[in-house]
Amino acid sequence: MTFDSTLTYRTAQIIIEDNATESCGFIEAMTHDRASNIKVVSSYNTPAGTEFAIQYQTVATQSGQPLTGQTQICACNKVSKETIISCINSGHHEIRALKNKTKASTGCGGCSSKVNQILEYELSKLGINNENKSCQHFKFSPEELSDIVRVTGISTFEQLVASYGFGSGCAHCQTTIKSILADASRHATEKKKGMPWQSADDAFVTSLQKDGYYSIIPRIPGGEITSDQLIALGEVGKEFNLYTKITGGQRIDLYGAKRHQLPSIWKILIDAGLETGHANGKALRTVKSCIGTNWCRFGVQDSTRMAIQIEKRYRGIRSSHKIKMSVSGCNRECAEAKSKDFGAIATPDGWNLYLGGNGGRTPRHAELFATNLNDDELICYIDRIIVFYIRTAERSQRTAAWMQSLTGGLNYLQSVVIDDKLGLVSSLDQQMITMVDDFQCDWGTVFSDTIKLFEITQLVSPISAGSSIIPSNSNIETESVEQWIPAT
Ligand code: SF4
Repeated sequence: MTFDSTLTYRTAQIIIEDNATESCGFIEAMTHDRASNIKVVSSYNTPAGTEFAIQYQTVATQSGQPLTGQTQICACNKVSKETIISCINSGHHEIRALKNKTKASTGCGGCSSKVNQILEYELSKLGINNENKSCQHFKFSPEELSDIVRVTGISTFEQLVASYGFGSGCAHCQTTIKSILADASRHATEKKKGMPWQSADDAFVTSLQKDGYYSIIPRIPGGEITSDQLIALGEVGKEFNLYTKITGGQRIDLYGAKRHQLPSIWKILIDAGLETGHANGKALRTVKSCIGTNWCRFGVQDSTRMAIQIEKRYRGIRSSHKIKMSVSGCNRECAEAKSKDFGAIATPDGWNLYLGGNGGRTPRHAELFATNLNDDELICYIDRIIVFYIRTAERSQRTAAWMQSLTGGLNYLQSVVIDDKLGLVSSLDQQMITMVDDFQCDWGTVFSDTIKLFEITQLVSPISAGSSIIPSNSNIETESVEQWIPAT
């Protein structure tokens, strides 16, 4: 087996299969450094013909220890093993602080388990138990304490030890928690920087599309829409010469709007009872659903009703990344709930809740979180998981990568949300109540507030075409001056 050093790809995966013996070996190779960076991710029952080749190139074990110091652990951010070890030795004993310092595992998250392995191995060499308590003053691990700090917003050691620890602490836990608090502060600042405008699109409460035009994407919970609302969408499309498309998210999108037309278009749609779809933000997009018991002979629960209830509850909540949800009315899974961040699949006894699925560049099937939940339990668990995700995930980290980054993964999440291992459940519940109460339709708010309406009218006027909030890579300047003349 040879690798061409001129190849430009960064990673390669090679699967060696032997159908005769139903065995295979699986190798992941990182190029650039060629053979020195080739390592076996897993191999089992390797056929006789390939065993030598795999063993010959094996430079890693499960602990990660035999890797050379220069071996690149994080391909996204080019972080080597020796960089990670150096940070651990300088006192970064908590996984999030370590990732923040080195940037390892802050890209696609695929190396998360390797970084954890190295941390555990190095801590064990230092005589520190990373799996359990920080010390006798806390019954939680450093990572659990990090989650507690991020969810509660506790900002001092004294507060933390008083609420979640014993006594007054020691040099060891004070050092660890100082690192956790610093990382949580950085995390909160990063998130705050992204709020309330998470992108230039938010400035106009819509999405910038190709050639400087904008999309109009109203929310249509459960795909249910009235005849009058359909007529309003059609009339807007005709009047403003917009391209219309029914999407996979059960919405009707309108494309090709000019910036100055946005208030006029949205006024018509808001008056028709539609609302902003938050398609421009890191927030809940849609809750896809099948027709369920109302119309389908296989349905065992009313999936459309549940999808509408879920979409109306979580609409507008800003998150670490976009959130997609889905509800299927039986295990035939027509709504593809297992490919969403949150998926509910009906059973004769209630709902099975799945988490952490997504499509995109790195597809991932969702994991089964809980079974046969009644309606209230389903909503309760989704409430808690969303808040826990928002508070602890890094910016722009989808639930799939977030779950992979959690030490203990699904089991840990179940212990936090169902068993209340960290004592956070009441806080998670209360925070969700506040988030739900804070909902506002962005454009509806604009039209009910004369100051906001004035501000956005100024913002979209031709005079502000060179505004700094327009992304530098946008081609909005392709619009001619004539195009800025108001349509009405
Ligand atoms: S998932 Fe089940 S209930 Fe829903 S449309 Fe498909 S078969 Fe019918």
